[in-house]
Amino acid sequence: MTRRPMRRVLVANRGEIALRIMRACRDEGLETVAVYSDADAQAPFVRAADQSVRIGPPAPAESYLRIDALIAAAQATGADAVHPGYGFLSERAAFAQAVTDAGLIFIGPPASAIVAMGDKTSARRLMAAAGVPIVPGSTKALTDPDEAAKVATKIGYPVLVKAAAGGGGKGMRIVRTPAELPGALTTASSEALKSFGDGSVYLEKYIELPRHVEIQILADQVRTIHVGERECSIQRRHQKLVEEAPSVAVSAELRERMGAAAVAAGVAVGYRGAGTCEFLLAASGEFYFLEMNTRIQVEHPVTEEVYGVDLVREQLRIASGLPMSIPEGPLVPRGWAIECRITSEDPANGLLPSAGVIQWLRAPAGPGIRWESGVESGSEGTLYYDSMLAKLIAHAPDRARAIAVMQRALQELMVVGVATNVPFHRKLLADPDFQRGDIDIQFLERRPDLMAASDDDAAIERIAIAAALLAEDQRISRRVSAPAGAANAGASASAWTQLARRDGLR
Ligand code: ADP
Repeated sequence: MTRRPMRRVLVANRGEIALRIMRACRDEGLETVAVYSDADAQAPFVRAADQSVRIGPPAPAESYLRIDALIAAAQATGADAVHPGYGFLSERAAFAQAVTDAGLIFIGPPASAIVAMGDKTSARRLMAAAGVPIVPGSTKALTDPDEAAKVATKIGYPVLVKAAAGGGGKGMRIVRTPAELPGALTTASSEALKSFGDGSVYLEKYIELPRHVEIQILADQVRTIHVGERECSIQRRHQKLVEEAPSVAVSAELRERMGAAAVAAGVAVGYRGAGTCEFLLAASGEFYFLEMNTRIQVEHPVTEEVYGVDLVREQLRIASGLPMSIPEGPLVPRGWAIECRITSEDPANGLLPSAGVIQWLRAPAGPGIRWESGVESGSEGTLYYDSMLAKLIAHAPDRARAIAVMQRALQELMVVGVATNVPFHRKLLADPDFQRGDIDIQFLERRPDLMAASDDDAAIERIAIAAALLAEDQRISRRVSAPAGAANAGASASAWTQLARRDGLR
């Protein structure tokens, strides 16, 4: 086996995932280098690193997406490896190649595996050849409307027009009748051209009410294994909001079949490190390959909790040529884990991202709770990047208890100064359909009530503000022992206590 010892890792990312990676590095005795834009100069992940390098102004194109600046930062700080995190450059083959060409270790798959999975039609051909079930449809781009009509008739309506270079649900159109097809091909293609610089589109059968179930894989120089499934059906506009492991819809037998398909997908492209195969799971129990994400994913912690593995540590080991530390033999999930993505999306404002200073943040804690955050009290939110502030993960012996633990944590969590989607999570977790696991990828489209602002949210917001004022007053009265300060603290303490009692918060 080729060993490539690592000593210092540059993390080419920001926020919670940068911190997550740095923590794993520290556990392994590796030094860390942060890179940051001007918007992140004061961010927790920058302070957590052993060294840090400013790479440019806030706009991603001028900072986190600048391959030249990142390589220069790695060389200037003596880093010998680069971890791309998720998003930004993590799935750009050109970045993986540039890192390797500079003599550094890329903590991810070979550039060739990223290329193979990057184009959807070529990935579909590769997967079909490897025996991985794909959604019925075309395996090459369609330019001729007559040919497209023939494919659509063969697979049966409804069909989905998809962009070959797709991402984030862009360039996708559902077509329910033959008459709609020519128009959908044109609009999807021009949207794809605008978004990806490539107007190629193809057809897939539209699967009604499937679940999104994905399989985590790990591959070192000898073995490719799967680490079970995550269900990510709770999505809004193709953005995942809540994920869990395992899935209520996956039996041990189905897990092995889906796992074997994901392993075959990884082997077919010479995969190394941590990757994820996304599948649609139809109500019939059939599953279809959607795409492979060639990086660590936002929702990786739910897998870590139920399988007792550290996926980032495994990435570091595999990148330095060590074997993965996971014993041979089948892995069995222990209990249930759920993740809620806490975003700065304002329910009272059409769920648009809100910016501002987080005046006060109280993170949940206690048994079964894991908090992965990129922010703290005093952090300033920016609209330049993703609106995710933190991830809250609950782990318990079964799903019902994981929901209860998550509900307790969502009660404890308080964010003052920036509107968040916490009210949505509270409503979702209390919903009987969700509690039964009766979900699919259109669940949230049918349930706008869960996303809407309500009077309860306003009450909780008031409590949060009162609590923040109390904390502030207590700080002041500790410093100044003037009678006026003490009287103020007493007044807001009783107001807060009253409000808190009324809403069951303590
Ligand atoms: P993107 O790369 O743009 O995110 P995906 O292929 O991952 O595109 O699809 C995005 C989402 O669209 C999926 O998570 C699923 O919700 C839905 N979707 C994709 N393909 C189909 C299909 N054939 N039938 C039904 N829904 C689909």
